[in-house]
Order: sequence, then structure tokens, then C-alpha cells
Amino acid sequence: MILHTSLPSAVALGTMHGKEAAIAPPLAALGITLRRADIDTDRFGTFAGDVARAGTMLEAARAKARLAANTLGLDVGLASEGAYGPHPYIPFLPLGQEMLIWHNTLTGHEIIETLTDDRPVFDQQTITDPADADAFLSRIGFPATAVTVQAAPSVMPAAKGVTGRATLDTAIADCLATTGSALLQTDMRAHMNPRRMEVIGDLAQRLAQRLATPCPDCAAPGFGRLRGVPGLPCRDCGIETGMIAADIHGCTACGSETIRTRAGEADPAHCPYCNP
Ligand SMILES: [Zn+2]
Ligand SMILES: [Zn+2]
Repeated sequence: MILHTSLPSAVALGTMHGKEAAIAPPLAALGITLRRADIDTDRFGTFAGDVARAGTMLEAARAKARLAANTLGLDVGLASEGAYGPHPYIPFLPLGQEMLIWHNTLTGHEIIETLTDDRPVFDQQTITDPADADAFLSRIGFPATAVTVQAAPSVMPAAKGVTGRATLDTAIADCLATTGSALLQTDMRAHMNPRRMEVIGDLAQRLAQRLATPCPDCAAPGFGRLRGVPGLPCRDCGIETGMIAADIHGCTACGSETIRTRAGEADPAHCPYCNP
């Protein structure tokens, strides 16, 4: 594997949704210019569901990053990918997963940052009366957060990226006239959802911090946390819990890893013995 021990002066970002606004500044601080590749990222899947995502989040992000790099003739491509849905453990709460990938098309070297947003602006409501839209709109912060309007979950959105009240009212009226109900959803595209853009900015900060950290063994940029190891002992009985006991930091260029043990004990609430 060819190792690049210095950072490139320019990298490509594949986006149609203005993500460069959030990702460029932290990279600029490292002397890296972010160049936007004009590629059709929607073909890798859309939030509105009119194009299904092919493969996993990582595969979709990697494909976008590679295409961006190839389009601009640069070695490194970046792409971000998000997934939003119901919280797996807490009823009625939404959860967002965001990923930012740095992919070197020459070496295959990848740096991946992920982040969980437990307060995403991700919501939906079905209405049968136009007046019922108001509570939803104020809850999601319309019009800063845009909405999509569709007649039913299974059909194409009648309108996407709606930030104007008149457009919204027309789309709702159209849906009510055809099916008697309208499904309103937060538009999850980054430029339509300020909360999502903010989270992507946080990810970019983390990526920059990591790029500024060279591997102690091979000097490649991007040394940082790769994963957690569960097994933090319970405070009451000492049994291993599912809580993180150590973090593995490493380099994805040469494979070198170090383990950093976390101090402390787990709350018995997380213990399989004390709180089965
Ligand atoms: Zn216990
Ligand atoms: Zn290394």
C-alpha cells in the first residue's frame, strides 16, 4: 500500500445539498481546499424514498466519495450519509445516524467518522384538515426546516423542499383532494434541515481533528478512535456490562492500534445481573 504522510491540498466533496458550507471550514484550517463535485448524489438514494439506497450507509458514502474524486481528478473524495428513524430503545423518539467518509482512491485509505444525533429534527404527521399543519410546522421550525408533502407514505412526494406557506397550502390541498389526507415530513436533505447541517459540521470538525493527528507508527494522517470495547464492570456486583470499558484508537493506513481503558464503573441499571 502506498502511504501518503502529508495531507492533500485539495479534496473533492460529492454533494448536491450544500454540505460544503459545513465541511469546508474545518478542512480549510488544515490548509485543505474542499472542492464540490457536481455529481447526482440522488442516484445513491434519497430520503424522500423515490430512490432506494443501494447497499449500506458506508457503501453509499464510499461510492459517492469515489465518484466525486474521479469527477474532479483528485486523489481524495469525501461524502456524508445519514439515516433517520425511530429510536431503537425509546418509544416515540427519533434518532439520526450520520457518517462522513474520507476516501483515498489511490491507496484505499479511509477515515470514517460517525455520530449519533439523539435530537434530530426528523418528524412527520398525517393531516386531514389544513389547520392541523400548524402545530407540526412550529414543532419542526418551519420554514428554516423545509417539509415534503405527499398523499400517502407509498407515493412520490407531491412537493419537496417546501419553505413557502403558499406552496405548502397548495400541496396540502392537492393531497387532500385526491386521497383525503396529506403526509407532512421534515425534509432531511442537509440544505433543507439546519439541524442536520449542524451535525455534519460537527462531524467535519472531528474529521479535521483526526487528520491533524498522525499515526505514531507510519505518520499517515487520521489516527483516532476506531471503536469501543464493552465490558465496564458493574459498580454493585462487578460483572461485565455492555457499557464501554475501553476505546481502540488506531490507524487505518497501517493497522496499528492502541487500547485506552476507561476509568470508572457501570451504573447497576446497565447490569445484566443487577437489572436483568
Ligand atoms: Zn451488577
Ligand atoms: Zn499507521
